[in-house]
Amino acid sequence: MSRTVVVLTAVTLILAVFLRGTILLVSTEPTVHGVPNSKAISQNFITNTNSSSFSSNGGVGRGFATRIALINFDDGYKSQFTNAKPVLDKYGFKATFFIVCNFVGKSAKQMNSTSIVNFAGKGVEQMTWTDVLALYKQGEMIGSHTMSHLRNMTNMSDSELNYEIGGSKQCLVNHGIPTTTFAYPFENGKDNATVVKKVSQDYTYARSGNYPLMFLTCDHFSKKYSRQTDCRTYLPSGKISYANRYSIVGWSHDYDRIAYLYNDKQMLNRFIQVVSGQDKYNRPGQPLDAIPIIVYHRIDNSGAQ
Ligand SMILES: [Zn+2]
Repeated sequence: MSRTVVVLTAVTLILAVFLRGTILLVSTEPTVHGVPNSKAISQNFITNTNSSSFSSNGGVGRGFATRIALINFDDGYKSQFTNAKPVLDKYGFKATFFIVCNFVGKSAKQMNSTSIVNFAGKGVEQMTWTDVLALYKQGEMIGSHTMSHLRNMTNMSDSELNYEIGGSKQCLVNHGIPTTTFAYPFENGKDNATVVKKVSQDYTYARSGNYPLMFLTCDHFSKKYSRQTDCRTYLPSGKISYANRYSIVGWSHDYDRIAYLYNDKQMLNRFIQVVSGQDKYNRPGQPLDAIPIIVYHRIDNSGAQ
């Protein structure tokens, strides 16, 4: 068995566990379900209400659905609990929530503190530990998004890295939530050997951004980015490879909305385009190869990330 195949099997399992059950169904005739008072959510979630089209179109990969996607929520905003969780429940979706430990339980006012810098959610209410624990107990996955969501992980001292990376895992454990997954704030550190080494000591997988599809075989990324033929973390030179278990890529829905000034219709079209991107790679009867990991932040009508 070649190295690539071995790694592929591992990574397939990894992603299945990492994002267990986080399947977003998108039919060939997508229907948007509006949610009262939450335009942002209604434009974000598509599901399949036509069960006959779902079962008759054959599906792809392992027959989960026509298309699949994984749903992530970053930064621990209260709106994820109040607005997104009911929608996830309504459609039977599970997601992964990446939590910033020092932010948990902070009110909007507390989040406005001068100590919170370079954070898009400054002044925005956070989930409480009761909320986070409820998510965990209801089968959502909880991941770590550091202690303080700082920008400069590549410049941190050893003890600062220990605090932000290992400390945030311990923080979750102290609240009864074991985790094996980590997300880099600002995508910072995913290509830094020191940071990745620290992350690998405490976590099995780490997610960054920003790419529409995550490939389970590491030679399918654009040659512009990578000429890897397998998923090993370190290149022979000691540098970090482009595609590995500590550089899993997600696609930020709100980043695109803001960057390209999409209106609701344009955003929906872009969403469908991203989710449909897997069709080129996932073939009926073949193992899944491409999965969009869709990352959300604030789930409100603020228009902010
Ligand atoms: Zn973040």
